[in-house]
Amino acid sequence: MTVEQSRCLGAGQCEQLVPEVFRQDEEGLSQVLVAEPEPALWPRVLQTVHLCPVQAVIVDEGPGHAPQDTE
Ligand code: SF4
Repeated sequence: MTVEQSRCLGAGQCEQLVPEVFRQDEEGLSQVLVAEPEPALWPRVLQTVHLCPVQAVIVDEGPGHAPQDTE
């Protein structure tokens, strides 16, 4: 998971929603603290993906994108 800093507006929703994972740097742009959050955090991470106004939070792995989790 990454944050596309060139898109980030610094609105801060991500840090408010999941402070364990996102942190705004000194310029106000979001940084990912934990690239592979523990499963318990994923619901809020995925909520952030949807709430980010510029779709700057990019998830390329994890429960939200697991192919089939049938076991
Ligand atoms: S929610 Fe999106 S625009 Fe706002 S700080 Fe986080 S990554 Fe940047």
